[in-house]
Amino acid sequence: MSFIPHGKHSIAGQLISSENTFTSSPASGEAYNFSVGTVDQINKAVEAAENAFLEYGYTSRETRAAFLNAIADEIEARGDDITKMGCAETGLPEGRLVGERGRTCSQLRLFAEHLLQGEYLDKRHDKALPERQPLPRPDLRLMQRPIGPVAVFGASNFPLAFSTAGGDTAAALAAGCPVIVKGHGAHPGTAEIVTDAINQAVKKCAMPAGVFSLIQGGNREVGSALVKHPLIKAVGFTGSLQGGRALFDLCAARPEPIPFFGELGSVNPMFLFPNAVSQRGEALAKGWATSLSMGAGQFCTNPGIAILLAGSFGDKFLSVASQSLASVPAQTMLTMGIADAYRAGQKRIADTTGVREVLSTSCYMRDATPYLYATTAKDWLNNETLAEEVFGPLGVVVFAESVDEMLEVAKHLDGQLTCTLHIDDADISDAKSFLPVLERKAGRILANSFPTGVEVCDSMVHGGPYPASTNFGATSVGTMSIRRFLRPVCYQDIPSSLLPEDLI
Ligand code: NAP
Repeated sequence: MSFIPHGKHSIAGQLISSENTFTSSPASGEAYNFSVGTVDQINKAVEAAENAFLEYGYTSRETRAAFLNAIADEIEARGDDITKMGCAETGLPEGRLVGERGRTCSQLRLFAEHLLQGEYLDKRHDKALPERQPLPRPDLRLMQRPIGPVAVFGASNFPLAFSTAGGDTAAALAAGCPVIVKGHGAHPGTAEIVTDAINQAVKKCAMPAGVFSLIQGGNREVGSALVKHPLIKAVGFTGSLQGGRALFDLCAARPEPIPFFGELGSVNPMFLFPNAVSQRGEALAKGWATSLSMGAGQFCTNPGIAILLAGSFGDKFLSVASQSLASVPAQTMLTMGIADAYRAGQKRIADTTGVREVLSTSCYMRDATPYLYATTAKDWLNNETLAEEVFGPLGVVVFAESVDEMLEVAKHLDGQLTCTLHIDDADISDAKSFLPVLERKAGRILANSFPTGVEVCDSMVHGGPYPASTNFGATSVGTMSIRRFLRPVCYQDIPSSLLPEDLI
């Protein structure tokens, strides 16, 4: 490995070490020591971010667009080191890291373009009506403004696209908000290289140093101190329901509560309608197996549940899915903790009343192999635990006696990132009654494809009702995600010489 990590935090561009260190747990290659974050370091990073905001929050859109493009260029310049370190730390294959790097850079560049277009400012102007009776109307203008320093938690399952310079960071920097990243212990070396890229872009674009800091973890106090800091104005998070909920509660309990944009858990159900299953059940089963096992099932949009009618076509679907999953080799999971959680989730499903094992494999240590279970809609409806996410390549097939019973399952779902319909033309009338139900359950509804693979674009919604996310009005992917770090300000009768440049 050509890159050897220094193991320090980066606070406003300064590399700072701590007395205590933790040792990384790479899937392969050498382990390195990294500084454990401290509350004092969090305080320093947040204060630097607040100072930077006074300048950065008032930069032009062109300046911030150039900064985002420079970060993308610097990441690309470190591409090989990022791939090597990322693969070693996470166990993800090279192709995945290369693809994720491409996505991370295009995401930064997409936000740069979005800034230049300027529509996100949502400018409004109600001109003064001095003659209006019974009262005159003042001049009123509205525009979206950045909120201040934002905390971002690196995600274990996306070392690039949802971590140091990932979607949350890109959206916050685009909005005009400085960012403090709390690194994820699963990939501290990758975070260090990406931080170096950001620091270089800060220098090249003459941005205030406090616009970005990375504090490595290794201690739960770091994350709590960060979200509780009075100068932090919002939090971006992707991770577990338990961790996300704990941090959400801390945000809500602050003297000044702040929004916590957490993307937590989702089972991403697929509803397979009778005609689609009878016409192409085999292809659907193979497609599901691929989507379910891709990346060891460590995607937030992993389709964990398939709901279809019991009967011969249903049996065929189950047996083809089982055969396809049986041929998937063991894949290394992101961390030992995630592998342990996968096994615990598998045991929970296997031990639930009314659940039948279809495919059992021997999953051990940090390796994941697929599991497949079947149950009836009645048993699923009677066991709430079957509706909870198992993070990994585990599928549950739910057999219903009728389309109405499939709809009953839909009605009992928790909030989801995605819900999928597999339909043929002859299924359309049956599917009609599902749309009003699924709209209330999910951020994204798909027909005839699989939910893994989230397009980064203007129309994407990667969010949904709790527990898919803690804020159903928001998305963490796509250009609309900038809204999370903006708030509307109304300017009443403010002289144009005082108005923000964008409003004049
Ligand atoms: P996690 O345990 O929720 O941790 C995510 C981040 O939050 C880490 O930086 C963690 O710090 C911090 N954190 C968690 N609880 C905290 C608390 N009470 N106080 C302060 N900080 C806290 O998620 P993970 O490590 O990524 O993976 C664990 C499980 O999360 C997986 O097995 C999976 O079930 C789920 N997961 C779900 C998704 C999804 O998209 N749905 C994505 C990734 C993971 P530390 O590192 O110090 O613990």
